[in-house]
Amino acid sequence: MRITAVRVYGYTLTYVHGRFVMSGERAVTALPSTVVCLETDQGLAGWGETCPLGPAYLPAFAEGARAALRELAPALLGLDPRQLNLVHAAMEATLRGHGYAKSAVDMACWDLLGRATGQPVATLLGGRLRDTLALYVAVPLGPPEAMAAHVRACRAEGYRRFQLKVGGDPREDAARVRAVVAATEDEDLIIADANAGWTFADAAVAVRQLEPLDRVFLEQPCPTLEQCLAVRRRTTLPMVLDECITDVRALLRAAGQGVEAVNLKINRVGGLTRARQLRDLAESLGVRVTVEDSWGGDVATAAIAQLAASTAPQTLFTVSFMNAWSREHIAGGEPRSDRGRGLVPQGPGLGVTVDESRLGTPLFTVP
Ligand code: MG
Repeated sequence: MRITAVRVYGYTLTYVHGRFVMSGERAVTALPSTVVCLETDQGLAGWGETCPLGPAYLPAFAEGARAALRELAPALLGLDPRQLNLVHAAMEATLRGHGYAKSAVDMACWDLLGRATGQPVATLLGGRLRDTLALYVAVPLGPPEAMAAHVRACRAEGYRRFQLKVGGDPREDAARVRAVVAATEDEDLIIADANAGWTFADAAVAVRQLEPLDRVFLEQPCPTLEQCLAVRRRTTLPMVLDECITDVRALLRAAGQGVEAVNLKINRVGGLTRARQLRDLAESLGVRVTVEDSWGGDVATAAIAQLAASTAPQTLFTVSFMNAWSREHIAGGEPRSDRGRGLVPQGPGLGVTVDESRLGTPLFTVP
């Protein structure tokens, strides 16, 4: 099988709840997403998607992904998409870094490998272990009562896992978390995610305030891994690391300091191939993983579902179906969420069918 054409599309994803607010006054209402289609000489097409969470979240942004894909696309022609390591070697030889752009190509190759073999990607990633996934919802940073109301509404829908955006004034953040704890029950999981928004001093104040709150996890309190690990050493709050887990070395450092869980965002780590490597290493180290992406629509969510479905129960922490957070759908809203659970697609490859009419004219096509 050979790649004969690369088509790259852009479309907009609009956040379903208005403004998605994170620390540092970063707010998102809509994001440009980028979709890659790889056509082959055997009539099969594979799809991938990458959607950075705006230009101020990680060193990644939509126009960067598109420019990188313009560089990469000619080098993909003639390659066998089922030979993932060869595809990655060709991409590395063409462009260093920009894993968030390569992620869409990697995803499309996994889709093709699955379609060519008649297997869901989950089977190829280690085994399809479950049909549904317990999802979390992210609660935008806002006044404590607004955050508690958001959580109550999601609880009524069936969600039991909540990631609260914090990272402002640490005492106000503690009030936000307390309001949400009061709106939930013992079975619920609450993760206070500062998105690297606290200084080390802020984090020291915050953990003192949050320490007595049962069932609260702290996520990415400070910008660097070193700062987060220093916070980890002074608190009994269980910790999730996200933005700073960029590679194997960071994961090993975090595991060595007893960090309980890490978030694997598929495009941050460079695609499903790297995400699987980190997932398997985390499992060996006894670290739990949340499977998600920076953002994305139906295709990115299908990749999340396949990786999460193949992750061992003792390792899988939680999952987000990013397509439930946006209004626009390019594969009929699949994979679906239902009462706080995500349904894993059944078909081969990523298991979703892209409706090209939803994407309009490609941004570019090679050749
Ligand atoms: Mg996070």
